[in-house]
Amino acid sequence: MLKGRHLIDPEDLHLQELEEIFQLTNLIIKNQEDFHNLCKGKILGTLFYEPSTRTRFSFEAAMLRLGGKVIGFSEPGSSSVMKGESLPDTIRTVAAYTDIIAMRHPKEGAPKYASLYSQVPIINAGDGGHQHPTQTLADLFTILKSKGRLNNLAIGFCGDLKFGRTVHSLIKAITRYPNITLYLISPEELQIPAYIRKEVLEDKNIDFIEVERLEEVLDKLDVLYMTRVQKERFFNEADYIRLRDSYILDLKNLAKASKDLSILHPLPRLKEISTEVDQDPRALYFQQVKNGMYIRMALIMKLLGVDKC
Ligand code: ASP
Repeated sequence: MLKGRHLIDPEDLHLQELEEIFQLTNLIIKNQEDFHNLCKGKILGTLFYEPSTRTRFSFEAAMLRLGGKVIGFSEPGSSSVMKGESLPDTIRTVAAYTDIIAMRHPKEGAPKYASLYSQVPIINAGDGGHQHPTQTLADLFTILKSKGRLNNLAIGFCGDLKFGRTVHSLIKAITRYPNITLYLISPEELQIPAYIRKEVLEDKNIDFIEVERLEEVLDKLDVLYMTRVQKERFFNEADYIRLRDSYILDLKNLAKASKDLSILHPLPRLKEISTEVDQDPRALYFQQVKNGMYIRMALIMKLLGVDKC
């Protein structure tokens, strides 16, 4: 039962619960009008202490499509945060007005901390360079739809694996399925954090290979997850400038990839995927955007307990 729970980390959802969310998402996609009033009278709070386009809009669109309403901020400067209000006090206040809260914060662990003070479910909509579990739901659903399975896959993660929270969350989630091989493609300085290497991969005996060149492994992949180098997490601009264009996926290097490759990207995309790739049937990142809204509809329904399926 998901009703009333917080979603802070991808592992907060058991595999069976994930499966139920995928099934509900499929139903929503098929019969959208059946869901238009299910959250009537409910309010989603969106607290975005960091910039967002897709995550915030998709949460808002999800709640509006379910017949609910949304309040919140996309810029903490317009709230009492500017007067120095603490996170617990802001959360206690917003939780008094809403039924569910989606929160993004630059500090790792902030949504977890917030959940200790909230009477309503808190959804982590991205915490610093740590985790982003609802992007993971969109990613898993997109992989499932394109491949028909979440096991027996060779998945390449390419780019900023150090600061990319979507990478950390998807690695955590996908390695719970059998026979997953990971190709971790990054410059040495942007390799996955030590806790992911140790606790998620080594301790669980997951097959993984770290390489620097995308071309070396492109032909082995079922899924390629490209990422943006996370400028906002760098201490030093010169390092960012040196690393930001480490990888560029274009039609030329894609010629080496499988015809069935699924190309994902959590977006925003800078230069790491050339726009000429957008028309290639293997490019799924805009489908992923749309899936993100439908799966957030399913998640909101489950956490509010308005799931009549
Ligand atoms: N939109 C994703 C995130 O919030 C990816 C990115 O920003 O690069 O983490």
